[in-house]
Amino acid sequence: MGAYRAPLADIHFLLNDVFQADEVFAAMPETEEVTKDLVAAILEEAAKIAEQMLSPINQSGDQEACHFDNGIVTTPKGFKEAYEAYSEGGWSGLTGDTNYGGQGMPKVLSAMIEEMFFGANSSFCLYTILTTGATLTLTHHANEELKNYFLPKMFSGQWSGTMCLTEPHAGTDLGIINSKAVPDAQGSYGITGTKIFITAGEHDLTENIIHLVLAKLPDAPAGPRGISLFLVPKFLVEKDGAIGAANNVNCGSIEHKMGIKASATCVMNFENSKGFLVGELNCGLSNLFTMMNYERLSMGLQGNGLAESSYQIAREYAKERLQGRAASGPKLTDKVADPILVHPDVRRMLLTMRANTIAGRALSLYSAFQLDISRFHPEKTVRKRADQLVSLLIPVQKAYCSDRGFESCVLGQQLLGGHGYVAEWGLEQNVRDARISQIYEGANGIQALDLMGRKTVRSDGELWALLVEEMNTFIESQKNNTEMQSHLAKFQDLIQEVQVTTDRVIANAKNNPDEIGAASYAYMDLMGLTLFCFMWQRMLAAAYIARAAGNGNKEYLEGLIKCGVFFMQRLVPKSKSLVAEINAGAESLMALTASEF
Ligand SMILES: Cc1cc2nc3c(=O)[nH]c(=O)nc-3n(C[C@H](O)[C@H](O)[C@H](O)COP(=O)(O)OP(=O)(O)OC[C@H]3O[C@@H](n4cnc5c(N)ncnc54)[C@H](O)[C@@H]3O)c2cc1C
Repeated sequence: MGAYRAPLADIHFLLNDVFQADEVFAAMPETEEVTKDLVAAILEEAAKIAEQMLSPINQSGDQEACHFDNGIVTTPKGFKEAYEAYSEGGWSGLTGDTNYGGQGMPKVLSAMIEEMFFGANSSFCLYTILTTGATLTLTHHANEELKNYFLPKMFSGQWSGTMCLTEPHAGTDLGIINSKAVPDAQGSYGITGTKIFITAGEHDLTENIIHLVLAKLPDAPAGPRGISLFLVPKFLVEKDGAIGAANNVNCGSIEHKMGIKASATCVMNFENSKGFLVGELNCGLSNLFTMMNYERLSMGLQGNGLAESSYQIAREYAKERLQGRAASGPKLTDKVADPILVHPDVRRMLLTMRANTIAGRALSLYSAFQLDISRFHPEKTVRKRADQLVSLLIPVQKAYCSDRGFESCVLGQQLLGGHGYVAEWGLEQNVRDARISQIYEGANGIQALDLMGRKTVRSDGELWALLVEEMNTFIESQKNNTEMQSHLAKFQDLIQEVQVTTDRVIANAKNNPDEIGAASYAYMDLMGLTLFCFMWQRMLAAAYIARAAGNGNKEYLEGLIKCGVFFMQRLVPKSKSLVAEINAGAESLMALTASEF
């Protein structure tokens, strides 16, 4: 199995040449100390953890998996030690609020670290990002007392967190959950119910686990507007912060699943467990949704990380595996065959992986920058604009990066032939581990519906118009860059294609509500392709500038430019079939009766 290498060259190129991270951070008082050198030093350390600590226990963790015995969950060998090192290094609180022991670093930085950790060991990374998600929710919605009790120990990594939303009968439709919260005499609540599929619900990595649980008061309004959010610790916490009595929170079993086998996916039973209200009553779902953009970004990053890992293995294999001869004549005449890299179809697979993986990384960074600007920028109008962009970008980043990530893992597996199907090289594990990123945190079909329905039709195209402004500003900035002109012409055609399609779906949806769901997935794909194309324009422009100035590694820049040309010539034309699919409308989808299926 190939050892994972953190893609630092790409990350530095994107941060410094493409997005000018220094300038963005310098414009915001809370991030002005996040200099290029500091970012480089932190990324370097994170890369060491990914390569030297997490990657070596990835395959063994998959083979051993989590173990369940009478309510106790044991993680595979090496996970506890890796987690201790992770906590001691201060990684748990990297982006946390500095008032409670966090380090206040921007999301841009933690996004790249998450990508590395997911690429090196997705199961391990899940334990960490669930805690980050829970702390973010508490920071924004919990009262001071709860924050003071819980956040410092979560930021130090001593305690971990979970998100307990799903129930056996309620996944996408959380409005119908059954878990109950009954007020008690102390102003807290007795929480009773069963949650399923809870990542890191029980494990042996931390001394306490802080669950964020959705439940309803007995007299709550029906549907999503009656849901409240509660903090329910595994062990109660004494006044002095010490661990107290067990809180009737029990793990009933863990799932046996396709991938991420070293991540404990738990059935959690709450039996009159003491819970503390987070935020206002009946606002649980909307409070959680304010954090959803961060959570969803992580799932796209899982796709990117595993795609990168798969690309690295496939690239080395393609250079070494000798099969057949090049169509243009033998290349290695002293060998029995040429490396499979000589074959155009092998290059198609490798270049598709590379082109989509770096574009996915760029899109994730672009989205993370908008999240940081919406949080830290001193001007309200700038924050608002970034927030609007985030709401359009995130469903696409989540769904398109996880879909392309899975596709890259499968392409890598295909490139290795039979050796991709067996366990030794790690590709089959990547395929299994990547698959879940398309399902959890809102299945990708739901992301597409969110993009098409709420973000496009309901906003009457306003958010799309904002993105068009961003893209046009960039195009305008490149009008004197001769090397970019043919790429920009294609990009402008694509924007125009999306504009016409968007207008048409908005108009059709007024007559038939099924048009939204019928168009949604292909529209998400079209938007993803357009955003990847935008990212490629930015990467190509930066690479041409660096090459002309003689900056950076020449071979790296040449490879990047050629990959960009491949993307523009061979992947962008896929927009045509997506537009045709969207234009076909709802009729053929809705024509069959249930018994005709
Ligand atoms: C390994 C793993 C880890 C998980 N971790 C957590 C966790 O930590 N915490 C937690 O709370 N949950 C967790 N989940 C649950 C996960 O978020 C849900 O499985 C997911 O949201 C989908 O819900 P569901 O499985 O009930 O599918 P359903 O909601 O039943 O959906 C089934 C299918 O129908 C589609 N569908 C549903 N409704 C609509 C609609 N209105 N319009 C169009 N299509 C629709 C969906 O897109 C999907 O394809 C995890 C799941 C797994 C497998």
